[in-house]
Amino acid sequence: MSDCIFCMIKDHQINSTVLYEDDICMAILDLSQATRGHALVISKVHYDSVLEADDEALAHMIVAAKRLANQIKKNLNAQGINILTNAKEAAGQTVSHLHFHIIPRYDQHDGFNPKFTDHQGQWDLEDIKNEILK
Ligand code: 5GP
Ligand code: ZN
Repeated sequence: MSDCIFCMIKDHQINSTVLYEDDICMAILDLSQATRGHALVISKVHYDSVLEADDEALAHMIVAAKRLANQIKKNLNAQGINILTNAKEAAGQTVSHLHFHIIPRYDQHDGFNPKFTDHQGQWDLEDIKNEILK
């Protein structure tokens, strides 16, 4: 898509700090650096999000993300990694082009907080299951 920032990046029309590239995906450093070494794995084909993506491309990308995550963890001396993807605005997606975030974690107070709020007991799990599987 011509007005998509990640399409411009993967086509090398605008600059980025490239960590890895193959025919299916490209890994770059995220400009925002949620933590030091925060990277993105972006697809070479434009998919709006993970929800629309081709299965084979996705499988390839998650393996690429895993390999880069291990490399980042080792060489930046991180203690853990969050790998995540946001799909749609309601989930916090700001760039509508499939990407996985690789976020190195140094400790639980390194500025990134993916903790879930505990709503245990608020909803009936069987009801939810039946609604999902109907
Ligand atoms: P989202 O919010 O869609 O899950 O993530 C989009 C990410 O892309 C953000 O973390 C943002 O910092 C990053 N980003 C946006 N524009 C650019 C850019 O031009 N270059 C790079 N390297 N990262 C970008
Ligand atoms: Zn795109």
